[in-house]
Amino acid sequence: MFLSFQEAIYYLTYDQVHWLISILMIMLFASIEYFYPRVQSNSKKSRVLAILAIGIFSYAAVWLFKSSIYLNVVSFFLNFQIYSLSKADIPVLAVYIFSILLIDFLVFIFHFLSHKVIWLWKLHSVHHADEHVDAKTGVLHHPFESLSSMIFVLFFSVVLGLPLVALIMYAAIATLHNFFAHANIALPESFDRILRLVIITPDMHRTHHSIDIKEGNSNFGQLFSFWDRLFGTYVSNPATGEAKLIMGLAGKEKPKEFSLKGLLIHPFSRFDSN
Ligand SMILES: [Zn+2]
Repeated sequence: MFLSFQEAIYYLTYDQVHWLISILMIMLFASIEYFYPRVQSNSKKSRVLAILAIGIFSYAAVWLFKSSIYLNVVSFFLNFQIYSLSKADIPVLAVYIFSILLIDFLVFIFHFLSHKVIWLWKLHSVHHADEHVDAKTGVLHHPFESLSSMIFVLFFSVVLGLPLVALIMYAAIATLHNFFAHANIALPESFDRILRLVIITPDMHRTHHSIDIKEGNSNFGQLFSFWDRLFGTYVSNPATGEAKLIMGLAGKEKPKEFSLKGLLIHPFSRFDSN
């Protein structure tokens, strides 16, 4: 069985830890970014407040979903279950390793689709609206994007019968890594080169935030870097070099106003790429 009562409780209470970890990680990386910035950034105070406010909205939307209809949604998804990896006749460690790899692959697919399907892109473009990517950008997600992404991953996790504890473990690792990947920090080049063989590094992810559409359509990975290498979407460096990299959205895809309200209504406005 995918879901036990115990597991469900863990999953629901995890949110409080998620909030706490996020606040601590933003504070930790903000101090590292201050002393060892990758590029000089002069993000305005109003932009920082807008990012933190939408982050709170986004986290609250997920929390509301989990504390209201989450169990009903999981029961509904169980009707579509075709396999149970949790019950597979393989060592428990292998079940967890496969599950974490599968979940990361699902997140990679959802991110890829978010750049290809127009209504998903409209939601995801809020995340790309930040021109000064740093650890805080990790929480810059439209609430509807956070919900869509969670429901997408939950659906396939239930269909494939992944252990729920693996979802919690992945969420914990991915949350820690998410702030690291967005951090505006300078890693030693040799360390970055080794690290990016396995996981997404800040430089790799900064290329994904490039205003250049070709570079924006690369490096979709969340935690592991090998999906991009496997599917030919890996780009090692921005063509401009790190110092001159321009991040954010081009043309009318830019939000009219970088405020909580402006970002919340942004997906419902006209985009010139339509
Ligand atoms: Zn993206």
